[in-house]
This record gives sequence, structure tokens and C-alpha cells, in this order.
Amino acid sequence: MTILSNDFSLLGEGAKAALGRTYGLHIDGKEVQTAKSYPLTDPSTGKEFARASEAGEAELNMAVAAAKLALTGEWKRLRPHERELRILRLADILESHVREISEIETLCSGRLLANTSGVDVMYSAHVLRYMGGWATKLEGQTMRLSVPYIPNGELSGFTFREPIGVVGAIVPWNVALGIAVWKIAPALAAGCSVVLKPAPQTPISAIRFAELAIEAGIPAGVINIVTGSRPEVGQMLVAHKDVALVTFTGSTEVGRKIAVSAASQFKKCSLELGGKSPVIMMGDADVEAAAQAAAVAVFSNHGQNCCAGSRLYVHRSIYDQVTERVVELANDIQLSAPLIPGATMGPVIGPTQQARIMSIVDAGVYEGATLAAGGVAVDHVGSYVRPTVLLDVTSDMTPVKEEIFGPVLVATPFDTDEEVLALANDSQYGLGASVFTNDAGRIHRMTQGLEAGSVWINVHNALDVALPFGGWKDSGIGNDLGESSVLAYTKLKASVHYHA
Ligand code: NAP
Ligand code: MG
Repeated sequence: MTILSNDFSLLGEGAKAALGRTYGLHIDGKEVQTAKSYPLTDPSTGKEFARASEAGEAELNMAVAAAKLALTGEWKRLRPHERELRILRLADILESHVREISEIETLCSGRLLANTSGVDVMYSAHVLRYMGGWATKLEGQTMRLSVPYIPNGELSGFTFREPIGVVGAIVPWNVALGIAVWKIAPALAAGCSVVLKPAPQTPISAIRFAELAIEAGIPAGVINIVTGSRPEVGQMLVAHKDVALVTFTGSTEVGRKIAVSAASQFKKCSLELGGKSPVIMMGDADVEAAAQAAAVAVFSNHGQNCCAGSRLYVHRSIYDQVTERVVELANDIQLSAPLIPGATMGPVIGPTQQARIMSIVDAGVYEGATLAAGGVAVDHVGSYVRPTVLLDVTSDMTPVKEEIFGPVLVATPFDTDEEVLALANDSQYGLGASVFTNDAGRIHRMTQGLEAGSVWINVHNALDVALPFGGWKDSGIGNDLGESSVLAYTKLKASVHYHA
């Protein structure tokens, strides 16, 4: 199999301008250069194509101070409708930069252009529009009160939702801008300001987003971006006394550290963590449709999806047919540098992740799993992993228990509904789960019985902006998207008005 290399001459003018550049931080509406920078590398070659700035404590403090100050200025004075209009304008401006930003995201992450343009840019515009609408719909309650120890007079009670304050947001690389916007958009709708720390590999899209926000009329200091290649930047952001809420998407391991740090200051935090999401095919599922759905569930975004359908459970009556077809689909996927037209899978994020994926696959084979597709090293520069399918697995095997965050599927047959529910729930994680069947009784039982924040029926990984998305168990606390995510960026104030 030949893997074609990236061809930078295919880039548009916007992304070409990124090549060779050193990106500063974005603080108070301005680019801030730092003493040190670090390389950004193309995962399809491992070669440096640009650099980003290493923020230190001084820059982090500057960013938080700018965000704090922004909460007292024009941003505070804007009426909700004016805030909404600027968020909507940002959605339009973002959309008009779809080529530049999706190409930059692809350069940094190795993800396909269809994915970066569809998810990081177009879906983000959609999220901004939905969330923008909430700016004018944040309500409180009004009531007549009866405080017993104030016997005379009239008492009226009101609740207000005020912006919680400076939001510290920390995001991963797998859907870099998309996940950043899941956090920034509701924070803006609620009237907050934000300091965002992107993952080290994917900082540029967030910096460009913050610049576009200035064009949209969102005041300087409302969105600040601090970048760096060391965990210290994120740690300082979480621990900063002027950060009121921390919102994080990333690994369970880092999420646990953040929760501890935030708790010591009674800081609210929202954590979207890892997953090991089951896909369940009942015996009445159509074999071809089931195999296609299972392949998309695990292989899209090269498996670097928090809700990747990485555990497949198929009813024994169709198990052989479905798994044979999934193996064929895996073998049909063409690995290619992501800028090459027609690429169906690019590299994973980098050599460390590639080595980790391969080591988990090797552990599975050592533990007795059968390698039915992929699993062997790719003889090409760049961090490629072949779509991999492991059969004959048991629940105690490493690739069944651990989140792999790569294109690796494990498949298991089952006989009864009770058995598959127990298998599906036998995981530390509880992010997503899907069931394919037309049996109404089963749909009901499975929806009730699955331990996951999202249960999808006859579809996998369908994330709508109006529905909350969050994990159970070690997959996190709190949620992104939906009304509840906007409310999380507010704090309640109760007020009592007395009149004789
Ligand atoms: P990660 O290592 O947890 O890093 C995520 C972010 O946290 C990065 O910006 C990272 O930057 C920062 N970070 C690391 N250590 C930190 C610390 N001690 N304090 C504060 N920030 C810290 O995750 P990843 O490898 O980038 O992303 C993959 C993981 O994200 C997977 O586990 C996946 O399941 C999860 N994910 C979850 C969802 C969801 O919605 N549930 C969505 C997408 C991804 P540095 O590396 O510079 O420290
Ligand atoms: Mg990391």
C-alpha cells in the first residue's frame, strides 16, 4: 500500500501564511510573543511547519487579568441581544474562513479535511448560533415570599443568573477547535470571559478564532489564548485564584488531577473525559448496515474520538457475517496524508500515540486475541496506524479495558440481552453507547440499562447541540452542549425586596 505524502502546494493562501510562522499568545486582543517557542509538527511526516509560544507564569497571569478586566467593561454593559448579535457575527466570520482554519487544523493534527471543515468549523458555527440565542433567554424566577420572622409588609423574591466569571478552558487535540467552541460559545452567551489553553499540538485554530472574535465585535480580553508544550500552563490556569470555573476535555488521568486542584478552591469544574463506548448489534440488525455503522463508529477521525465505538458486541446469529464485513471495510481504508484528495484515513496525532496504540494491540495479541485486520507497523514516515480489528477477546484483555484513542476495534459475540448489558456496562467508562435493532422492547430496556451519558439507537455518536453531552463514571462530570451547559456558566443570586 502506498501512502501519499502531504503536498503543501494544495493549501490555500490562509493556511500557507501559517507555514514557518511563530504564533504568539492571544491576550487582551493582541498577539503576545514570548521568550521561548516550541515546534508544531505535521503528523504525516513528523516535520516542523510552524512554531507556537511557550507561556510562562507571567503571561498566564496577564491573560487571566485581561479576562477579569473584560468582565467590568463593554462586555458587561452590552445588552443580551447585542451579545447575541456579536456571537452570531462570529459564526458568520468563522464560516467564511472555513478553508483556512480547516487546513490549519489538518496540518496540526493529521485529521481529514472533511472532518476538520465539517466539525471544527461548520459545526462550531452551528454551536455559536445555538448558544448565541441563549444570551437573551437566561431567566430567573419571581415569587411572593413569606419570611416568618418578618411578619408585616410585603416581600417579593427574585433570582438572577449572573456570569460565573473568568472561565479556564483546557482542551485536547482530537477535535481541537470544535471542543474549544463547545466551551467558549456558552461561556460567551452567559456573559463570561475565557482563558483557553489548547493542546500543545493544535494551538493555531484557537488563536485564529480569538482574532476573528475581535473582528466580530467581541471586546478584547473576553477570549484569551495561552499556549505551551508543558502541563504547567494548564496547572497554573486551574489553580489561578481569579478563575471561577474550569472546563476540561481530555484524559481521565488529567481530569482527576484537575478535579482535585479545583476542589481545593471550591471551584466548579466540568470534565469530559475518556470513553470505551460499546456498539451493540442485535440479531435483527441488517448485516451490511451494521458492519458499515460499526466501522464508521470506530474508525472515523482515526479512532481519536472520545465516543469512538471501540467495543463491538454482535448477536451470535450474525456475528461471523458482521465481523467478516467489518474486517473487509477496515482493509479497504486507504491511509494517506490528509491533504491528499480522496484520503480516507490520515495519521494519528504523533509518534507517542502511535507507539501507545501499537503496544495495546500487541498486549491484546499476547493475551490471546486474534488479529483479524491491521495491527502491523506501517513502513512509511509519519504516525500511521492501520485500521485494526481484534477478535476472540475477553473482558479482562488490555484492548477491551483501556481507551486506545486510535483505529482499533475489539469484537465479541453475545447470546442474551442480559449478557450484553452486563458486558457493555463492565467498564470504568460511561460516555456513549449505541444499540442497533428495530425491536421496541429491546430499545427501551437497553436505553434504561446502559450506563452512559449518551445512548444512541440505530446511530452512533450523534451529538446535537441542543442535547447535553457528558460522561458517567470515569468519563467525567458535568456536560457540554444543551441548555444545562449554558446554565453551568452562570451563578445564582437570590434577591428579596421588602415594601411596607
Ligand atoms: P490529555 O493528555 O488529558 O490533555 C488534554 C489537555 O490537558 C491538553 O491541553 C493538555 O496539555 C492538558 N493538560 C495535561 N496535563 C494537565 C494538568 N496536569 N493540568 C491541566 N492541564 C493539563 O488528553 P489528550 O491526550 O490531549 O486527549 C485525549 C483524551 O481526551 C482522551 O482520553 C479522550 O477520551 C479525551 N476526550 C474526551 C472527550 C469528551 O468529550 N469526553 C472529547 C475528546 C477527547 P499538555 O499536554 O500541554 O499538558
Ligand atoms: Mg497530554
